[in-house]
Amino acid sequence: MKTFYAEEQRRHDPKGFLSSGAPQPNPEKPVRIDRLLAGARAAGCSIHHPSDHGLAPIAAVHSPEYLEFLQNIHRRWQLIPGASHEVIPNIHPINRSGSYPASAVGQAGYHMADTSCPISAETFESACWSAWSAVEAAATVMSGEPAAYALCRPPGHHAFADVAGGFCFINNSAVAAQTLRKHADRVAILDVDLHHGNGTQGIFYGRADVLTVSIHADPVRFYPFFWGYADERGEGAGLGYNYNLPLARKSGDDIFLEALDSACRRIEAFAPQALVVALGLDAFEGDPFGGLSVSTAGFARIAERIAALRLPSVIVQEGGYLCDALSDNLTSFLTGFGSMR
Ligand SMILES: [Zn+2]
Repeated sequence: MKTFYAEEQRRHDPKGFLSSGAPQPNPEKPVRIDRLLAGARAAGCSIHHPSDHGLAPIAAVHSPEYLEFLQNIHRRWQLIPGASHEVIPNIHPINRSGSYPASAVGQAGYHMADTSCPISAETFESACWSAWSAVEAAATVMSGEPAAYALCRPPGHHAFADVAGGFCFINNSAVAAQTLRKHADRVAILDVDLHHGNGTQGIFYGRADVLTVSIHADPVRFYPFFWGYADERGEGAGLGYNYNLPLARKSGDDIFLEALDSACRRIEAFAPQALVVALGLDAFEGDPFGGLSVSTAGFARIAERIAALRLPSVIVQEGGYLCDALSDNLTSFLTGFGSMR
């Protein structure tokens, strides 16, 4: 399977975030890339550098004011006397029905959902290359390859059309799905990350052409808290085209696979022409986030079930944090996926 990844994706190197109010080192580190590359190589993948696809495929799912914000906010932030090195919001609107603020501090609150997506001088460039890896993987699948893997880092599934959050800036899975829509009338996104894919859900919530399905730890006591419940089914034309499967904390392989079977049956009923797999490996039992208990062998079983859908598939990397088995978990998934092809 072809893997797409650009060295420029390393340049974003966030330092901190708040966890239950306490300052902690940011776990979304560039070294994740080395573990994921090793895992892809061990599965027999060839590594390719994507082309610069410009802003068009990104602007297809994100607002112009948000992209302008991402591009310029760090430079503007540095003009504030005594400002932090990284852009971290210190105010959030209760709701966003008011005016669009002109100031850097106001816009940071408007466009950043939480404190876990600090923006440095390099963030926008890295996020664009991460998205272009997804675009290139989608183009590869549209040209006839059965599947491709986009090693997207920074990840994307918590980014809404105009909001960053949860280590995410540009929604790579949404960009891939929208790119696939050029050739496919219907595209499904299956998100198997530990955390609910709230940004992806938000982007497609009113649409019937992109089915969004997410299996994740129950948000009642877990990030992203405000989204991911089973009664979120879409709205307007999109009603019935969003499907959430929250799982009890520490659920293991069998419970996950049971939910996956239900997810796959929903996808089959939708009859898409292409699939995006938002692949988080943080559902692993040894992941530092500790939300679910999927085993390394379990990732191969998950992949086999998804591959049995027999759909042209773009696999987009989402979460999965530093632990001994991170490489092996990716190898397990990609090998399991390939074994069904
Ligand atoms: Zn996650």
